[in-house]
Amino acid sequence: MGIFIIDFDRTIANGHTHNTIARFYKTIQGPNPSWNAEEQQDQWNLVKHIPPITAGNLTWKTVIETMLNNGHQVAIASFSSYPHIIPQYLLQVIGLSADLVKQVHIEAWLPEQPATANKNNHIMNVLQHFKFAGHKNQVVIIDDAKTNTDAALAEHFVVIPAHDKLGNPFTDGKHLSLLLTTINNMNTG
Ligand SMILES: [Mg+2]
Repeated sequence: MGIFIIDFDRTIANGHTHNTIARFYKTIQGPNPSWNAEEQQDQWNLVKHIPPITAGNLTWKTVIETMLNNGHQVAIASFSSYPHIIPQYLLQVIGLSADLVKQVHIEAWLPEQPATANKNNHIMNVLQHFKFAGHKNQVVIIDDAKTNTDAALAEHFVVIPAHDKLGNPFTDGKHLSLLLTTINNMNTG
């Protein structure tokens, strides 16, 4: 079994939910930022129309369902001050069932220096959450930011970049196709 750790902004959502909300709300560093129900609703309204990335007929719904139905663990790792957005987006925009959304671990918080930080601390927290005792070649990282994929490669995780060689995010969903192939290879290999 593997663990899939997926970035959110410009990897699942075809836009940047944190930056969109941050135009109207302060950013808060660290885990568990506190927003009241009214703020959470207003923040959701700012981003709920951002479409997801798809690869033709292949959607994130299919990809995440395939991961979970094959017994893999799934987490979303995001630099975000608005973590409540992510499960809501998975439910209402991606169309995952409430039961499956509950199985997805959300590791979303803003580091001290978001411009220079990478996702390796988020990844380590996810592995701790799942009490992962396997090999790093069972941990698959998907991210549109080259800083994050380079850092994950340096730690010898499996990386599926959601960006081209120059670091430009894929907008055609190429990473969704690559993921489906990877899941199928893990099942047979
Ligand atoms: Mg991103």
